[in-house]
Amino acid sequence: MKYDISITKTTNPAARPTDESKLGFGKIFTDHMFLMDYAADRGWYNARIVPFGPIPTHPASTVFHYGAEIFEGMKAYRAADGTIRLFRPLENVRRLNQSAERLCLPTIDEEGCLDILNQLVELERDWVPHSEGTSLYLRPFLYGNDPHLGVHAVSNAVFAVICSPVGAYYATGLNPVSIAIESEDVRAVRGGTGYAKCGGNYAASLRAGKRAEEKGYNQVLWLDGVERKYIEEVGAMNVMFKIDGKIVTPALTGSVLPGITRKSAIELLRSWGYDVEERLFSVEELFDALENGRLEEAWGTGTAAVVSPIGHLFYNGKEYTVSDNKIGPLTQRLYDELTAIQWGRAEDPFGWSVKVCHG
Ligand SMILES: *Cc1c(COP(=O)(O)O)cnc(C)c1O
Repeated sequence: MKYDISITKTTNPAARPTDESKLGFGKIFTDHMFLMDYAADRGWYNARIVPFGPIPTHPASTVFHYGAEIFEGMKAYRAADGTIRLFRPLENVRRLNQSAERLCLPTIDEEGCLDILNQLVELERDWVPHSEGTSLYLRPFLYGNDPHLGVHAVSNAVFAVICSPVGAYYATGLNPVSIAIESEDVRAVRGGTGYAKCGGNYAASLRAGKRAEEKGYNQVLWLDGVERKYIEEVGAMNVMFKIDGKIVTPALTGSVLPGITRKSAIELLRSWGYDVEERLFSVEELFDALENGRLEEAWGTGTAAVVSPIGHLFYNGKEYTVSDNKIGPLTQRLYDELTAIQWGRAEDPFGWSVKVCHG
């Protein structure tokens, strides 16, 4: 079911950035955005693409007080054949609805949501940058918008999509990151909202991230919230390890975000003949593998970076080096293959890359 989308074009289009090497991440936005309102007694209504700008919001709105907010992150790519493409967009729509269900926010029709994304990307196609490694980042978000302070599941909500041209994540090649293992703060617990992509999870993770940065580390490796024993994620990415030729990644136990890059990496690795174990993986087991020289590679996965090699791990006052602080061959192969599919440079045997329009 498609939503009936009205389109109001801007009369004052912005100049598009000319130097694509300075795009960075999420700093500039395109000329238009998508908005749609929800009321319990009407369902979704007033679907519209309008000029980009502030969204007037009631000061008592649920989103300000009780954190009823979820989001997605995906990219539109300018592909080698001149088309604009999305990568597994239905996965993002399904995850948005799973997050919505967890936070008692209204879900969106799958076909309708894909149509919203397609129409917005098509309208903004000239904003999809051209340089290698660049893309148009899409940020769909959905929040509770009841204009009163009672705590309850919401009856009013807003769904919005904004777009931002983003630069190549790796300006200077795929550099390994240094990671501090966090044994105090936790990101999520089972039964909580860890598997939902909600803003509150990020708010709760900022303190540990800031502490790690102050010590000179790029990101935090999160442990489980009960025993501080099992590895969960790295920063806002999923994490994978290559040990004795096998791949190990934390199972989706409820506190781990089900990444689409994670899922794609697992499917690719299995298609290449690798054993991929999704299971509980303890920090002891990690250090055992490190100390016995069996840890071959470690990397994070996520839409922004695709894969991010881990070069250093810091835990309980000690620093350890992984794969000589260099990108490992399998990490590199995963990066090359995933990006080749995303930018339409390679065959796409899985049908992951979905055409939106001609560029
Ligand atoms: C979005 C996100 C990921 C990565 O998901 P992708 O779909 O691969 O981009 C991993 N962990 C957290 C906490 C996230 O928010």
